Amino acid sequence: MTSTMEWIRRTYDVPARHRMRIEYDGKPATIVGTRGPHLAFRIDGEKHITISHPCYRIVYPTIPEPTQPRGWCAHCLKDRAMKHGVMGRHQWYGRNWSELCPGSGQPPWKPVRNLTHPGEQRPEATR
Ligand SMILES: [Zn+2]
Repeated sequence: MTSTMEWIRRTYDVPARHRMRIEYDGKPATIVGTRGPHLAFRIDGEKHITISHPCYRIVYPTIPEPTQPRGWCAHCLKDRAMKHGVMGRHQWYGRNWSELCPGSGQPPWKPVRNLTHPGEQRPEATR
């Protein structure tokens, strides 16, 4: 399931996530969702939701790059771990519900610049 938020992260290389605290035009705000290709957020103290382009007047918190290299898979367009410069083995949801993604072992569409994948928030258990 590809969310629009993921599309925004992939397209604009920004770390946007639901409930992330950002600054819009110098004012603190919280991301509440997406509206098409745009971000929806609520500026502190305001009732209405503001819609804006992900790169317009928004300052994101500093998010480090992934500790292990990650890339956007050119096939399934998901944020996946890389190994030796190519995409690691991963499943995707093809005709047979879940099978090895053809993008496994292939170069990424482009590297992931921000550590926002849920699996990256904690140390790897498998080593
Ligand atoms: Zn893939």
